[in-house]
Amino acid sequence: MSAPQAYLDALPLPAVLIRPDERIAGVNAPATALLGAGLTGGHFINALRQPGLLDAIEGCLAQRSPREADYLTSDGDQDTTYFVTVRPVPLANGDIGALACFQDVTHLEQSDRMRRDFVANVSHELRTPLTAIMGFIETLKGPALNDAPARMRFLDIMEREASRMNRLVGDLLSLSRVEQEERVRPTGRLDPADLIRSTLHGLDQLAQEAGVTIRTELPDQGFEIMGDADQLRQVLTNLIENAIKYSGSGTQVTVRLSAPEYRPRLRCEGIRIEVEDTGPGIDPLHVPRLTERFYRVDSHRSREKGGTGLGLAIVKHIVSRHRGRLNIESALGKGSLFRVTLPVK
Ligand code: ADP
Repeated sequence: MSAPQAYLDALPLPAVLIRPDERIAGVNAPATALLGAGLTGGHFINALRQPGLLDAIEGCLAQRSPREADYLTSDGDQDTTYFVTVRPVPLANGDIGALACFQDVTHLEQSDRMRRDFVANVSHELRTPLTAIMGFIETLKGPALNDAPARMRFLDIMEREASRMNRLVGDLLSLSRVEQEERVRPTGRLDPADLIRSTLHGLDQLAQEAGVTIRTELPDQGFEIMGDADQLRQVLTNLIENAIKYSGSGTQVTVRLSAPEYRPRLRCEGIRIEVEDTGPGIDPLHVPRLTERFYRVDSHRSREKGGTGLGLAIVKHIVSRHRGRLNIESALGKGSLFRVTLPVK
């Protein structure tokens, strides 16, 4: 094996070495997997058909200076983006060749795109209530200055819009806190039945105002699990609030707790909390996406109910911090069932 080939083989990334006569001097195994076999000795243009990369290699060979380029591939349903560095390197005969190394940056690009989408979504969500508030301030300073009933009405709307912004900021902060702690296992201990009872106590009025009856099915015997009480209270609140909000008057919400037993999906002993409603249900088409940030089945209805679109994203992160599982079963006209399975310790 020649010395340059040994260097190529020592690299974990796909790498191609090109001679100054523009022929390929060698490739390593990852590059063969990426570009195909039988490239050594051939012209580099036949192996690397993308103009950006071809320019970078030509430039590197001609100027003996470092270049960079993107290289895109697709294997049917998945696109992969490589960032390719092209560097001048001395060859065995004293010539200067070009070494192209391919770095897979697909995940970096994806997380960059997610971050951009998130910022755009947050800005949009904040701008809507802010625009309303600014509009009403204008009206209050001008046409409605001396109109007391209109003033009260506008102030009520402004209060509602300001609370929406407040809820959104609160949910964003919760989400970022939960994300920060996601890899830290909770160390507190709590009785889930107590937690359910106290959470429901706080939601009594909301249920009454919405005309929703709440039932509980709790085991007779108390038991404790390992968990973060504040966060699990938030899980319960978000699920029960959603069930109340979206089900409507005359419906029933059942909160069910099952005692610890072996849970095959967790591969350990776990408990199960279910929040079931007799509301309108959700088209199964939407179910897999409900835990995405800002995903709503019906944006208008969610906003009208004061939703931020972040509730289930927060639930998912908290459950995953507890190494639990979240399942959603629903069908249109059949109500919805949100099931959280949590390990006992
Ligand atoms: P939101 O703040 O909009 O309620 P969530 O993340 O809590 O955001 O929920 C996402 C979407 O899931 C809601 O907008 C709603 O369309 C749907 N959803 C959640 N829970 C229920 C439920 N119990 N019944 C019907 N639809 C629900």
